Amino acid sequence: MKKSKLMGVIPYIITALLITALFSYTKYSRTKTLNYGSFEKIVQTKNISEVTLTMYTTVIDITGVYTENEAKYIFVASVPNTEAQNGELMELLHSRVKDANITIKNPYQTNYLMQALAELIPLTLLVGFGIYMISRMNAGSNAKAFEFSKSRARLEGNIKVTFDDVAGCDEEKEEMAEIIDYLRDPDKFSKMGARIPKGILMVGAPGTGKTLLAKAVAGEADVPFYSISGSDFVEMFVGVGASRVRDMFKTAQKTAPCMIFIDEIDAVGRQRGAGLGGGNDEREQTLNQLLVELDGIEDNQGIVVIAATNRPDVLDPALLRPGRFDRQVTVSMPDKKGRLAILQVHARNKKFADDINLEHLAARTPGFSGADLENVLNEAAIMAVRNSHDVIQMSDLDEGIDRVIGGPAKKSRKYSDREKHMVAVHESGHAVIGLFLEDADEVQKVTIIPRGMAGGYNLMTPKEDNMLHTKSQLESEIVGLLGGRVAEEMVLGEISTGASNDIERATDIAKDMVNAYGMSSIGPVQYSKQDGNVFLGRDYTTNKTYSDKVAYEIDQEVRKIINESYKRAQKIISEHRDTLDNIVRSLEEQETLTKQDLENIVKYGTVNAPAEKAENE
Ligand code: ADP
Ligand code: MG
Ligand code: ZN
Repeated sequence: MKKSKLMGVIPYIITALLITALFSYTKYSRTKTLNYGSFEKIVQTKNISEVTLTMYTTVIDITGVYTENEAKYIFVASVPNTEAQNGELMELLHSRVKDANITIKNPYQTNYLMQALAELIPLTLLVGFGIYMISRMNAGSNAKAFEFSKSRARLEGNIKVTFDDVAGCDEEKEEMAEIIDYLRDPDKFSKMGARIPKGILMVGAPGTGKTLLAKAVAGEADVPFYSISGSDFVEMFVGVGASRVRDMFKTAQKTAPCMIFIDEIDAVGRQRGAGLGGGNDEREQTLNQLLVELDGIEDNQGIVVIAATNRPDVLDPALLRPGRFDRQVTVSMPDKKGRLAILQVHARNKKFADDINLEHLAARTPGFSGADLENVLNEAAIMAVRNSHDVIQMSDLDEGIDRVIGGPAKKSRKYSDREKHMVAVHESGHAVIGLFLEDADEVQKVTIIPRGMAGGYNLMTPKEDNMLHTKSQLESEIVGLLGGRVAEEMVLGEISTGASNDIERATDIAKDMVNAYGMSSIGPVQYSKQDGNVFLGRDYTTNKTYSDKVAYEIDQEVRKIINESYKRAQKIISEHRDTLDNIVRSLEEQETLTKQDLENIVKYGTVNAPAEKAENE
């Protein structure tokens, strides 16, 4: 901005002026101020090279320069401006100084230019300062005031991502195939009179590959890809959001056919007229403009809008109406097959040891999203480099998984032996339940190496990926969660805070069983209705649609489930006390036990199978 440059110069100008003033002052101070007597004497005796008379009404100011011993001095004197004095002075000067060196000045003869400047400078300074202050005040809130309505959509031409890079997601890809066809040749469809859904909403948990899929669509169709995030729309000034939307469509129109991708659309697309303290005018206007543009998309020929969100429930219904984002594509968490495919995609550029089996890895990572899996492989590769392995080994992958779940291991955090024993007992309790309870999740790994917030942890995975959970599975899960606490109580005769997270999770499951799934003696009635105001955060607004008496009954049921599970955990652990003790001992020795280790402990009482044991000895 030019203005700010000017602003930058002003301090320099002021400094320069100050320096000049100071300089002339010091020069002046070196001059000699004379009374008339000494002035006369100097004029009569010294060699005066020049003199200036300034004729005021009552006095005459005299300045001049004289030389003495090769050095030049300035002198100043004042004499009264009377006729007599005047004549005497002139006579004196004319006798000693050459006429050419005498200057007579009339101070009342104004120099208009100088005067104008003198008046202008303070004014300029003042105005400049004002502008500077105002611009400073605005800088914080709106540094981009001058690029108001320019849409921030980033244009990415030449997208290299293709469907090959998106693993799994076969149904989702199929849904998109039509869109790709349309983008490749919009005319074909319009000639046929077909209305192609031009607003597609991709719904899915974070990291499931929504952004990736959208990019792949643009890549496959080989069209420009505009991407903008919902929060970019929302800005301080009312009306700017809306004009951004307009601007974006106008720009896109120039390069049609093309694709506009709006990431995290829930930032703009929330239900209007809701929320604490009234609606948000700005967001509503932006949303309205978006709706208008989507409606006008008939004119916006060849533009496909894809939006992504993980909160479809908070979106304004008007957005989902036919003709707008009328097609929803749900991008789901990958199942085992999907995970394998994703691992394979991301393994393409990495080197693995021969014994690595990606299928096992996929089996061990239920609930991981595509982004998590990518992260696991990346962490593993980093670990391999750090451990100076030639190729990625199983231990690196293990560490990768653990890191993605719980953050880096805190190897430097030392427990006291007593604490270590307590954690080992606790984790062994979980493990024993996992080993001996029919429906419980399978224990993949137990460790007492602290990680993130957890002291130690059990990696338990369901025996198979399933969408539905039976009552007995849920109960088993609660038993497993309580196993840690039960073991502490039975082995140590002392309980610790280490179980608080387990207890919280167990309670949540039990509550859901009663309230949501109808799995208690209260019967199949749903007591918690999760709707209400989306802006308040669901938990605060879970509507209580039941009486206090029912609340009491629910409490009773939840407690019953927990108590029964606790008893079951106690029974299993006391029956397998010797195994528990063996696991505790092995854990304290090795800190980490794998599924194989645990199976050996159950069978032989030690980590090593007898054959290996013989070999080892
Ligand atoms: P979202 O937008 O759904 O939050 P992204 O599309 O940004 O997730 O995915 C994040 C990363 O996860 C991608 O860059 C990619 O590396 C990986 N990823 C996710 N899903 C897949 C998939 N199906 N195939 C391959 N990689 C995937
Ligand atoms: Mg995304
Ligand atoms: Zn625990």
